[in-house]
Amino acid sequence: MYDILSEEIHTLQERNLLRTLTTVESEQSTRTIVNGKECIIFCSNNYLGLANHPKVKEAAIRAINTYGVGAGASRLLSGNMKPHEELEEKIANFKGTEAALIFSSGYLANIGILSALMREGDLVLADRLSHASVIDGCRLSGTRLRVYRHKNCEQLSRLLEKEPETQRSLVITEGVFSMDGDLAPLPGIVECARKTGAWIMVDEAHATGVMGEKGRGTAEHFGVEQKIDVSMGTFGKAFGTFGAYVAGSKDLISFLMNKAKPFIYTTALPPSVAAATSAALHIIEEEPERRKILWENRSYLHEGLTSLGYNTLESESPILPILIGETKRALLVGQRLFEHGVLAPAIRPPTVPQGTSRLRLSVTATHTRRDLDCAIEALERVGKELRII
Ligand SMILES: *Cc1c(COP(=O)(O)O)cnc(C)c1O
Repeated sequence: MYDILSEEIHTLQERNLLRTLTTVESEQSTRTIVNGKECIIFCSNNYLGLANHPKVKEAAIRAINTYGVGAGASRLLSGNMKPHEELEEKIANFKGTEAALIFSSGYLANIGILSALMREGDLVLADRLSHASVIDGCRLSGTRLRVYRHKNCEQLSRLLEKEPETQRSLVITEGVFSMDGDLAPLPGIVECARKTGAWIMVDEAHATGVMGEKGRGTAEHFGVEQKIDVSMGTFGKAFGTFGAYVAGSKDLISFLMNKAKPFIYTTALPPSVAAATSAALHIIEEEPERRKILWENRSYLHEGLTSLGYNTLESESPILPILIGETKRALLVGQRLFEHGVLAPAIRPPTVPQGTSRLRLSVTATHTRRDLDCAIEALERVGKELRII
């Protein structure tokens, strides 16, 4: 066994694909110590700065004092506590749906939802840039997976029309694409899915708390919330906590509670995490100015990068990719940036397609102008030194 594994590890290393961990030596704030070196984090999904917000921390501590640490069992046994139910009610309210259900993570939510809703022989249509959890959910359900070109509604339409109407079909897309930062063409997707009666699922992982006037996600941004059958999102990103939600009709939620294995066969989220998430949601609803600052910061950094000559693809969100191409080169750029005190490591295959290795900067509301200027300066120096700009 060890020979085989070490050979595979060696191969990864040779191809510049070996991944290792870096150690963050503080809470998830923008300026911190990473691997012993002071730097500014530009790869965190803590968009609104809630991961270390005093009220969110306090809610978790209070819940620990009342409910202890672990939930002790799955939701369907003795693990279902007040904080779980309160959070689900609040999420349904926030999203304007009949009901909501919590999963232990976004990854589990996606494999749970897809494997429960779709059967062998059914059809899932997914954007080519779909998250790994979507692909894995399809595999688990034995459904047929057809991938359409990124954001291409015409191809989606053609694929849908070829299908017999007797089968279930579902179109799934991310609202904000996690590695490119662009938006799904939701109005177009809704139109072609409706024509053939296909269900529509949107993964709002990077969009909840970020997109839309109220932060409800990309469907709010495009004004199509009523047309979405299944809306999911994670608490690990803008909420700053952990776990995930799915929001939709009462029947959808009741069905998933009975059929989604990653809901049934896993321990409930710690009650403190559910309580902290409710506190985070309260801030998302009551302090829209956080979202405003996030978008101002995003504009500032986007403008800075563009005026240096960087191309941030089609990004329309706080995720700003800088395409490098070759993996080795992307790694080098990431390393040089770290030497200049900016943490934004290279993103490599299989997270992104072959030949599209990149840097990926994510902006948060807690970055100061000075932080953003530091990043722009570092990118100017590194970009010139390595002849990228
Ligand atoms: C992060 C992410 C997930 C997974 O969410 P976790 O709660 O971190 O497991 C799912 N889908 C997309 C698009 C994501 O970006």
